[in-house]
Amino acid sequence: MILIEGKKVAEKRREKVIEKLKELGGIPSLAVIRVEGDPASEIYIRIKRKMCEELGINFTEYHLEKDVTQEELLNLIHKLNDDKSVNAILLQSPIPYHLDIMEAFEAINPDKDVDGFSPVNTGRLVQGQPSFKACTPYGIMMLLEEYGISIEGKHCVVIGRSNIVGKPMAELLLNANGTITICHSKTKNLSEITKTADIIVVAIGSPNFITADMIKEDAVVIDVGINRIPGTNKIVGDVDFESAKEKAGYITPVPGGVGPMTIIALMENVIKAYELQNK
Ligand code: NAD
Repeated sequence: MILIEGKKVAEKRREKVIEKLKELGGIPSLAVIRVEGDPASEIYIRIKRKMCEELGINFTEYHLEKDVTQEELLNLIHKLNDDKSVNAILLQSPIPYHLDIMEAFEAINPDKDVDGFSPVNTGRLVQGQPSFKACTPYGIMMLLEEYGISIEGKHCVVIGRSNIVGKPMAELLLNANGTITICHSKTKNLSEITKTADIIVVAIGSPNFITADMIKEDAVVIDVGINRIPGTNKIVGDVDFESAKEKAGYITPVPGGVGPMTIIALMENVIKAYELQNK
């Protein structure tokens, strides 16, 4: 079994990002919008801020109260769209239920949409055109490339169909000539499908859900899940790492697998946004 060490790959790519920033001739800037209400978002934003500060990317957080109206949220997005000093806009999800997140994503200028969630970027992705790629799936593609794992002709099973992970993941694997099956909470006989996967990406948010008996010998197992064990600080993935590692050919750990790649993918997207606007 080969451990896919996302932390190390992310550190390596970070060096490249530093080089790229030196050659850029300017400083990219990222605006993050946070709507009050989700404590986990604070942690994710802190991580993004820290990385930006370390790399010398301008980072500004716009904090909205949890009773903000849709109009106020859209007004802020339009203001940031028009602001030439802002290269990249990220709306941290989730946001409160009274707000329409799809409309908000749609309002973000596609050239500043570094999460790749606007319909323009998801449409471009589906058509196989250049686009901003959602950071977690993009980071996973980097990992597969780094470990020389070919996708062409492989049966890739993606479990989870969220707009931020599962669906863009499936599209990226399809664009790389994989044969794709997407599974979700209504899928029947899940393990019959997962047992046929050469590459399996699990993004469901259910601790230790995928066990060794559900995977094929030597499969590539990518675990996106981040699940906190209640009452502890322990984080586990969606894959039962201890059993699955005995059977997998390659496997990502949690933590230290996909997570660090998501943040480096975001930094690369921010640089790309800067380049797009300054070419
Ligand atoms: P989500 O809740 O939006 O979607 C979960 C998906 O899993 C749904 O499509 C659902 O149909 C499917 N699902 C749920 N239970 C299932 C089951 N028993 N069998 C088959 N499918 C099932 O979640 P998300 O935003 O895609 O995130 C998934 C996980 O990935 C979470 O643990 C989240 O914290 C984590 N995550 C990690 C990163 C990272 O950088 N590592 C980034 C984003 C999300």
